[in-house]
Amino acid sequence: MDELKGRGDTVRDQDDSLNAEWESVTQTLRTNIGEAAFQSWIKPISLRGIDAGILRLSVPTRFMRDWVLAHYHDQLTELWRAGNAGAQEVEVVVQAERGLQPKEQPTASEGSVKSGPDTVAIQDPAPSIHSKSLSASLDKRFTFDQFVVGKPNEFAYAAARRVAEASKRPPFNPLFLYGGVGLGKTHLMHAIAWHIRQSEPKRTVMYLSAEKFMYRFIRALREQTTVDFKEQFRSVDVLMIDDVQFIAGKDATQEEFFHTFNSLVDEGRQIVISADKSPSDLTGMEERLVSRLNCGLVADIHATTYELRLGILQSKGQQMGVDVPPKVLEFLAHKITANVRELEGALNRVVAHSQLVGRDISLEATQDVLHDLLRANDRRVTIEEIQKQVASHFNIRTSDMHSARRARSVARPRQVAMYLAKQLTTRSLPEIGRKFGGRDHTTVMHAVKKVEELREHDSSFAEDVELLRRMLEG
Ligand code: ADP
Ligand code: MG
Repeated sequence: MDELKGRGDTVRDQDDSLNAEWESVTQTLRTNIGEAAFQSWIKPISLRGIDAGILRLSVPTRFMRDWVLAHYHDQLTELWRAGNAGAQEVEVVVQAERGLQPKEQPTASEGSVKSGPDTVAIQDPAPSIHSKSLSASLDKRFTFDQFVVGKPNEFAYAAARRVAEASKRPPFNPLFLYGGVGLGKTHLMHAIAWHIRQSEPKRTVMYLSAEKFMYRFIRALREQTTVDFKEQFRSVDVLMIDDVQFIAGKDATQEEFFHTFNSLVDEGRQIVISADKSPSDLTGMEERLVSRLNCGLVADIHATTYELRLGILQSKGQQMGVDVPPKVLEFLAHKITANVRELEGALNRVVAHSQLVGRDISLEATQDVLHDLLRANDRRVTIEEIQKQVASHFNIRTSDMHSARRARSVARPRQVAMYLAKQLTTRSLPEIGRKFGGRDHTTVMHAVKKVEELREHDSSFAEDVELLRRMLEG
């Protein structure tokens, strides 16, 4: 008993003195190398113990280990020897390597990188981007299987698949995907990453937004760890940067990106980029970068069509395992045209509502639940736009929409505009009247009736109105 107790005390005493010595070594180092380097490289080191004359230290990532060994090992050893005759060597290991990870992939799994308040600075960026397991930043639903292909996106889809399936050389470099918001760019990029992770887990795929790229770059500059930064990016097999328009006008980041880009392309690594515009339409981008971005395959995702929207709704409905009446799906596909994200959101709301109140999904309930959204979609056409479009179509001045002139040549177009305002906006008759030079709501009512009548009897007039309507609805 006594013996055991005694030994316990000894270990504890030894721990305390070890900690104290380590503390003194690191403080000396701190003065030698400066605060920034200390915070980045020395502070994250954990003291593991001393064993047979070897001082054991650990760091969170392999990159850090290499760095510490290359830059600070000599100083550490020297300082340690000076203060502690018992220890001759200093060993630095990677925490993650003690577990399951094979040596080539010390990819700092989530568990191995607990970022305590002390160590956040360096531990945070390294694991998440160096890691081949990007699960934290990849959306489970964004796979090829769940991507509905239609005319507007078939080209981009095919290109993304080619990239995902090419294991040797990049089929085109870079793959540049562009299109409006919510049309599936991020979905396709994640799908590429998922596919490669599954089919070739050895390849490292790095996916991040251009914003994150910039943020990390700036942090590396501030902490003087740009070498680390460069190394992390230049050692991946596939680099994907989302929403690259973000770095427009940000010259230093563009410069860094340009070099990263070149070095990866030179080594035959695949690059995938997305943006909201084509390379040539991106303003604030350096000429040489634009020309690089144009070098590979540029694939455009177009605005959705009714058919694609319907297909997506059917697919999402199935995935959710709910029976949505075709009438409702058609209604949504017809009404929610902005983008796929909004479309999904609308369907989710309708489904959630029906489950909440325990009633089947109906067209009435849908209109009710989406009241605000439908209004917002309607409101995209303004009365001013209608007036302008109609005036130019009939070759009159926009100001004639408000004027008191009653000549048929201006009165008729004005009536058409009022009619369209009633059809395409949610404005009331008095509101519309006010916008047309303060006319009475009965005048608007009369105009609507008149146009309806004319449409029935004059097919070329009906065509005119229809054409205008379609132009305005975009
Ligand atoms: P972007 O990055 O172009 O702004 P996202 O890729 O984030 O758009 O897509 C927005 C949402 O729409 C996501 O939930 C995505 O899964 C979905 N989506 C977009 N296009 C499709 C498609 N063709 N099939 C299925 N879902 C899609
Ligand atoms: Mg996106």
